[in-house]
Amino acid sequence: MSTAPDTGRRTCSRAGCRNPATTAIEWRNPRIHTGDRFKVWLACDEHVPVLRDFLAARAFPLEVKPLDPSAHGVR
Ligand SMILES: [Zn+2]
Repeated sequence: MSTAPDTGRRTCSRAGCRNPATTAIEWRNPRIHTGDRFKVWLACDEHVPVLRDFLAARAFPLEVKPLDPSAHGVR
């Protein structure tokens, strides 16, 4: 699982999906991420539940946040 570089294009993190992301899922694997480090997956509407369930099944702490369309390209 690779992390897409955040170059302003916000597409879904789901493998093979190129839909524009609408949601950011911040998650953490307590075994490899220490302290306040976390990863962010971007998801389209279709894949939010898929990615969330994937993480929830592993009992990883996660937070789902809507992406602000007006912030497109920022950061
Ligand atoms: Zn998707």
